[in-house]
Amino acid sequence: MKEQQMTNFWSVENNVDNLLESPEILEAAQLLKHNEVVAFPTETVYGLGGNAQSDIAIERIFNAKGRPSDNPLIVHVSKREDVLDYVNQTTEVSERLMDAFWPGPLTLIFEHNETLSKKVTAGLSTVGIRVPDDPVALAVIEASGCPIAAPSANTSGRPSPTTAAHVEEDLSGKIAGIVDGGSTGVGLESTVVDCTGVVPMILRPGGITKEQLEEVVGEVAVDPSLMEEKEAPRSPGMKYTHYAPKAEMTLVHGSDAFFQQQIDQAVEEGLTVGILVPKEKDERFTGAVRTEVCGEAGQIESVARELYGALRRFDSGESIDVIFAQTVGEASLGQAVMNRLRKAAGNRVIVEE
Ligand code: AMP
Ligand code: MG
Repeated sequence: MKEQQMTNFWSVENNVDNLLESPEILEAAQLLKHNEVVAFPTETVYGLGGNAQSDIAIERIFNAKGRPSDNPLIVHVSKREDVLDYVNQTTEVSERLMDAFWPGPLTLIFEHNETLSKKVTAGLSTVGIRVPDDPVALAVIEASGCPIAAPSANTSGRPSPTTAAHVEEDLSGKIAGIVDGGSTGVGLESTVVDCTGVVPMILRPGGITKEQLEEVVGEVAVDPSLMEEKEAPRSPGMKYTHYAPKAEMTLVHGSDAFFQQQIDQAVEEGLTVGILVPKEKDERFTGAVRTEVCGEAGQIESVARELYGALRRFDSGESIDVIFAQTVGEASLGQAVMNRLRKAAGNRVIVEE
């Protein structure tokens, strides 16, 4: 067993304009400079940051998360020009995407120039980079003076953290510090787009939708493995079970009556049931011992924002055997929400005939 370490906890207001002078930010940045790892908020989820040029820092990230080392990390920089320090070239498509969506929840894949730790890229010739749209994240990165590799700040496999309390739950005693800047806005990770080829390709759906991307660059492809589970994904991280609560989760595609049937059947089998429903359906079903509400139907942004918190709540309190969740429409952010739901459910989906 690795020894526990003292985890600093800093609370910062994200609406002040002198964040770069805030002692909390400077302390966090100082630790990053010394290759320690520190969690901080971004607009997507909380990230666990480490100096992307330091093998030691990157090893600390993988150890704290228990993350498989063949799953590369996304590098976060505070301004667009910094990308040029780490990549061979940018393409016209990538330039247009950076103009349109940075800072923001879009990670672009470039050929790297070997100046980052090999552990960041898991030995690939490419690297994913983004500029986050969060004042606290930007201040921490800028004050550190380093490119910051930052995967989600959760134990590998668990739902990603959308509050500092989620980070504490998973990583307290294992990392040097946590910057608390409140709840994250988007609630899902960034969209990962490979723009090294002619047609840009979505490797992971996320905070920027396919429709938004297509408005800027025309046709955008989607990694076929995201539709067909048999193919090996091009984004290594997508092959792992992820975001999953402890109880076995199943997605249900169909009417409310069909959803109720699934609950009844499980109860008959002697299982304790949890359900994940939008606010409007809080009281609609019977038989579940736990109902966790996640967003409002028809407001996919609210579902995205609340999803990980709701999945985490199933893991606290009285334990349950199975969880049922209704599928959501796959338009706009629905694509990313369904991707995370499928992963949390290990691809178990029941479809009404
Ligand atoms: P996370 O750090 O948990 O947000 O996950 C990062 C995601 O970005 C994973 O799915 C990685 O596989 C993906 N990723 C990072 N770098 C690359 C790369 N060079 N090529 C393809 N996918 C990448
Ligand atoms: Mg993650």
